[in-house]
Amino acid sequence: PAHALPSLDSLVDGVRAGNRAMLARAITLVESRKAEHRALAEELLQKLLPFTGQALRVGITGVPGVGKSTTIDTLGTQLIAQGHRVAVLAVDPSSTRSGGSILGDKTRMARLSMDSRAFIRPSPSAGTLGGVAARTRETMLLCEAAGHDVVLVETVGVGQSETAVADMTDTFLVLMLPGAGDELQGIKKGIIELADIVAVNKADGDNAVRARTAASEYRAALHVLGGRDAHWTVPVLTYSGLTGEGLPELWQQVEQHTARARAAGSFTAKRSAQQVKWMWTLFDDRLRTRMRSEPALRAELARLEKDVADGHLSPTLGAGRIAARLGI
Ligand code: GDP
Repeated sequence: PAHALPSLDSLVDGVRAGNRAMLARAITLVESRKAEHRALAEELLQKLLPFTGQALRVGITGVPGVGKSTTIDTLGTQLIAQGHRVAVLAVDPSSTRSGGSILGDKTRMARLSMDSRAFIRPSPSAGTLGGVAARTRETMLLCEAAGHDVVLVETVGVGQSETAVADMTDTFLVLMLPGAGDELQGIKKGIIELADIVAVNKADGDNAVRARTAASEYRAALHVLGGRDAHWTVPVLTYSGLTGEGLPELWQQVEQHTARARAAGSFTAKRSAQQVKWMWTLFDDRLRTRMRSEPALRAELARLEKDVADGHLSPTLGAGRIAARLGI
């Protein structure tokens, strides 16, 4: 058939050659939920695995309107001018819930999307956050195999998506707005606890002073929270995604963060831990998918859930019965 997939070998070669059309097809394959596509995707990923891992992986989060797309457009353009090959991916669980994605519109990055040295892929839209994150992680590996040496993964301040992105990146960047107040709530809610770097955007024009004030408030708040890593104090910067001012300094911090981690030996350790955590997440997903796909089991589980909810059965006994039913 005309729409048949290229062979596995030609996909491997095409991706490795940095062929954009082949990379896009490989990603489509990886995002597919058809069983025969999954099998092929896993084979493809396994073959490309030796050529992955070379990129600097950076997670970027911030509330809608903070300037993620503006920032990535300008930063990405600067990085490309320095010779980097940038890939931009997104984890957007809202695209699953509502059918529309907050991060989905490619035209948000006008300059970068025109540049053949950049590769922009909107969030996969199928399945749970776990599923979306799984596909994005695999897409990241494909981009690395295709020669992208910087992968930016953006996400919105919604649900658990930041944790998912922090779990697949080396450096996690939290973008903030000049007017503090609400954002300080973010510090309490824990998004900030994931941050390796905090950056206050829109430090231009009338906002410049407010941005610097906000930055010193965040700095103080972070100081109160205390450091997470012995070898890294979370820097708080101000910049403008619109003018690009401050972005080279911001990128310098990203590079410094990974350089310190490498020197301390924690860079590889973190990636290894992410890999292992990843395996268990995938196993968990599989288990749950399996449980849902068997109607008799699903009915039994629904009854068990009801008994636990009603207080007729203790959660401990309930868990024991599920385990027994699965033979574990
Ligand atoms: P996102 O929702 O986080 O992707 O945010 P956008 O990049 O779409 O930006 C939201 C709005 O803020 C847009 O109107 C941008 O033009 C504006 N904006 C983004 N960055 C800056 C900046 O550095 N300075 C100023 N003044 N406005 C900005």
